[in-house]
Amino acid sequence: MKKTDVNIWCLGALLSAITMISCSTEEPLSQNNEVVSQTLENKAIQKGHSFYSKPEQPYIVNEILFDKLLLDASCERTEFSRILSGYFEDLINDPVFDLDLIIYYSDLNRKYATHYRGENYYGKNGEFNQLAEKRMRELTRFWQLEKEIYLNGQHTESLDDLELLTDMIESFDRSVRNRDEAHEKAMALLELNLASPNIPENPYFAMDAFTRSNGLLVIGDGLLQSLIEVGVEEGIAFTAVLSHEWWHQAQFENDDTWDYIDEIPSKTEKNRFSELEADFAAAYFMAHKRGATYNWKRIEQYFTLSFNVGDCLSESDQHHGTPVQRLMAAQSGYDLADEARKKGFVLSPEEVHQAFLDVYETLIQCSGKCI
Ligand SMILES: [Zn+2]
Repeated sequence: MKKTDVNIWCLGALLSAITMISCSTEEPLSQNNEVVSQTLENKAIQKGHSFYSKPEQPYIVNEILFDKLLLDASCERTEFSRILSGYFEDLINDPVFDLDLIIYYSDLNRKYATHYRGENYYGKNGEFNQLAEKRMRELTRFWQLEKEIYLNGQHTESLDDLELLTDMIESFDRSVRNRDEAHEKAMALLELNLASPNIPENPYFAMDAFTRSNGLLVIGDGLLQSLIEVGVEEGIAFTAVLSHEWWHQAQFENDDTWDYIDEIPSKTEKNRFSELEADFAAAYFMAHKRGATYNWKRIEQYFTLSFNVGDCLSESDQHHGTPVQRLMAAQSGYDLADEARKKGFVLSPEEVHQAFLDVYETLIQCSGKCI
């Protein structure tokens, strides 16, 4: 299967954002769903015609947000989903809440992070800059991929900067004909921003983590913030997301020869395979003594806290595997690094891929600790 230009969306977080909307320990599921749906509908109706141009294609965040099937999914409320729920509730309750504006901003910021080339910083105040440089150097040496990989940070502040916002609108908003018009629109939007405590400051606008086959990786500040809020240590949060995304580049590079996935019948299962392998390889790198050298407790903490959102999205194409499967994939990757510890060598991507194939069938049967 040749992937020419594929986005891989790696964000369990926003996938789970909807699950937390639909899940509450206090309220019955259906009642809670209704409240949210009505709120969204009423707010949308109040606004009438839209000032914002819609994205040409719906993207996963919005597909998921408004997929009633997913809204009806049953799931368990966790600390992580509570944090994401808080972000979303803040947005819904914002004095200038406008669904179109939220979609418009998310779309602009995602496109900007996708197409931007140039100087970067990571974390709201560049607090991940040094770690990013170190980890990227390590990962480059560790996997030795052919493609040059580059990492774009994604920041909510970009949507509050007149020049950047004008750039985004000029580049990606088809309703605007020239830079003057883009500038005018950006000025109007900054007025709205001023009236809002959440727009665009809410972490929701920088929740992306994805990779593209051209070597691009994107990590949003909002995603990192949410992981840190749930209790993941900063360095682990950044390293885990980066090394997971990095492995998708190995998958792109070996797409012609790694054929196992071609035999998997459904898109959902293909996706689960890719994601669990990325968790496996990320844990291998994170544990390896020539990698990030984290011990199992810290790796386990990341996987337990960040993806323990219940198995609410098993029908979604973006399904990453159940929390248990993800944890088991990470455990297997860790074990592989641990075996190599005494020998000290680094397995090639091909060898790691083969090692994953050895455990995959067992892993997807896991509903408890089973490897
Ligand atoms: Zn992924």
